[in-house]
Amino acid sequence: MLERTLVILKPDAVQRKLCGKIISIFEDAGFNIVKAKLLTPSKDLVERHYPNNNNWFIGAGNKSISNFKEQGLDIKEVMGSEDPLEIGKTIKKWLVEYMTSGPVMAMVLEGNNAVKNVRKMCGNTIPSNADPSTIRGRFSIDSSDVANAEHRPVSNLIHASGEVDEANYEISLWFGSENV
Ligand code: ATP
Ligand code: MG
Repeated sequence: MLERTLVILKPDAVQRKLCGKIISIFEDAGFNIVKAKLLTPSKDLVERHYPNNNNWFIGAGNKSISNFKEQGLDIKEVMGSEDPLEIGKTIKKWLVEYMTSGPVMAMVLEGNNAVKNVRKMCGNTIPSNADPSTIRGRFSIDSSDVANAEHRPVSNLIHASGEVDEANYEISLWFGSENV
């Protein structure tokens, strides 16, 4: 099924000059870039992109908790809490600071089953757990325990919409006012 999905090359991808390589990977797979722009997003835009949602906070918190556990590290020492909701809220704060810290490249990719296929190509949220054949695994080895100890989100280079509904919401959020 022909679909569109939103991809954001995050500040680390732009700073590391990886945009060209990452875009090539999508083009080589057969996706069309139907919209693209470079911008430093406002706090408001990022807040609306990652809505304040308890499920999201708990999901993000649990990723850190299991990552710390895998490494035999004490999350309370670093995050001051063992509660996934509290940890998730702290990660969200860092994420907003990070996403507004410099230019990102936002684009809409179109292709067969774009939402699912692009996510697959991005790989696991935590690059250290991502398959080396994916974009996150190919270009990063970061993990939550290291990142959270430095009071930052994982540097995982890329965002891609998780579901078709999310893609529609995110495309109109980032490109809605443009009549393209
Ligand atoms: P996925 O949904 O596949 O997990 P995602 O990129 O959509 O990937 P989210 O859980 O939606 O991940 O989180 C959004 C972003 O917040 C992540 O891409 C990452 O930059 C950051 N993040 C999320 N959880 C953590 C965490 N536990 N530690 C550090 N950063 C995190
Ligand atoms: Mg997500």
